[in-house]
Amino acid sequence: MPVNESAEIVVIGGGVIGTATAYFLARKGFDIVLVEKKGIAAGTSGRCDGNVLVCDKMPGYDSRITQLSQDLFPKIADELDYDIGWIRRGSLLLIESEAEMAVARPFSDKLAAEGFPVRILDQREIHADEPLVAPDVIGAMETACDGTLNPMALAQGLAHGVMQRGGRLRPYTVVTDILLDGNGQVEGVLTDRGKILTPRVVNAAGIWAPAIGGMVGINLPIQPRQGQLLVSERTFRVGRRKMMEFGYLMTKFGGADYARDTTPEMEKHGVAFVFEPTEAGNFLIGSSRRFVGMDTTSDIEVQRAMAQRAIRFIPAIRDIRMIRSYTGLRPWTPDHYPIVSETGVPGFYVAAGHEGDGIGLSLITGKLMSQIIRGEPTDIDVGPLSINRFSTSTELTELTDKTD
Ligand SMILES: Cc1cc2nc3c(=O)[nH]c(=O)nc-3n(C[C@H](O)[C@H](O)[C@H](O)COP(=O)(O)OP(=O)(O)OC[C@H]3O[C@@H](n4cnc5c(N)ncnc54)[C@H](O)[C@@H]3O)c2cc1C
Repeated sequence: MPVNESAEIVVIGGGVIGTATAYFLARKGFDIVLVEKKGIAAGTSGRCDGNVLVCDKMPGYDSRITQLSQDLFPKIADELDYDIGWIRRGSLLLIESEAEMAVARPFSDKLAAEGFPVRILDQREIHADEPLVAPDVIGAMETACDGTLNPMALAQGLAHGVMQRGGRLRPYTVVTDILLDGNGQVEGVLTDRGKILTPRVVNAAGIWAPAIGGMVGINLPIQPRQGQLLVSERTFRVGRRKMMEFGYLMTKFGGADYARDTTPEMEKHGVAFVFEPTEAGNFLIGSSRRFVGMDTTSDIEVQRAMAQRAIRFIPAIRDIRMIRSYTGLRPWTPDHYPIVSETGVPGFYVAAGHEGDGIGLSLITGKLMSQIIRGEPTDIDVGPLSINRFSTSTELTELTDKTD
């Protein structure tokens, strides 16, 4: 195959993680080629919500790294010559029982002790704030710093910023192999359109990252965790900001000190109420979590369970029509943290495995990856994100790709 071009760094994947990584590297003056097998945001980043949330993070490292990313959004939104729809409206986690309140209060106290603008609203305050919330909801955890954006615009805007800084985009180009020299150091990338010589590759291929890792003999324990969403017709203002049920934390992290009042279908499909208003006057309803391989078909049983759960929290939406649904695959890791790391293969880096937090963590991931590659001090200890916390020597996870 002829050598078509060369680059200082090749980033694989045109989702929010790949475009953010390419953007921060291009900002530092690196000569970048970003390779994407389809279009920008064609993967999970085009099939998700756009929340940048602290409220659904565990106090400690999880909340701290999210805060670092959240703080980057206003600056990067100004810097990009592109409207990414960044708005900071805050979020509400709705609390439906005293048992849930008993868990929510210490959770909220811990985040508040870390300096986050978090507080518990009582029943009167929540209904004054969001009048259409079911009257029996007893309170809510408000997180004032939480924001939202358009995830496809974020990836497009970052990709545009890469090009403005001299980077090159290669959409509709599939990486088929990574080339190593005699010392095991990265020396290039093979694609279906030619060869790119480079000493460094960043694997930002989301749920496909294990397949890219396998090209250099590295096992990445990332699995697709399916999530579905419903989109409503344009309607009256149902709610002014992001709302979720507090029980969402249980479906995300597992484990619980109390039982939610749900149906067997809701438990089976990991359903928890999520509401997100859009700027266009529609709203999104989620959420679900299940492991069904690479399947992105929408399932009526899951949709019904999500709709029932949403009506429980906002009865007024009972008669509003849903105009479409879509399904995405979250890149899940066993400990819920992404992998943002150099590897045992010199020149091969990984930025993948962000599960349901990739939009929110995109900017800090790009920044950390640029710091790791430049050998600079990082904004936060990247030990918890290192690939070394997993065994990488086991067999490559077998994936059945039905999404092409
Ligand atoms: C229903 C749902 C709701 C969500 N809501 C939120 C939310 O509100 N907030 C939040 O922070 N996160 C949310 N997430 C999670 C978030 O969407 C993901 O964490 C994030 O999009 C992952 O981005 P990524 O760039 O790693 O992966 P992707 O966007 O999938 O990008 C990977 C890219 O790699 C490309 N690729 C793969 N193989 C190759 C190859 N061989 N050659 C070239 N290119 C290749 C793919 O085409 C793809 O475009 C949600 C996810 C889902 C499913």
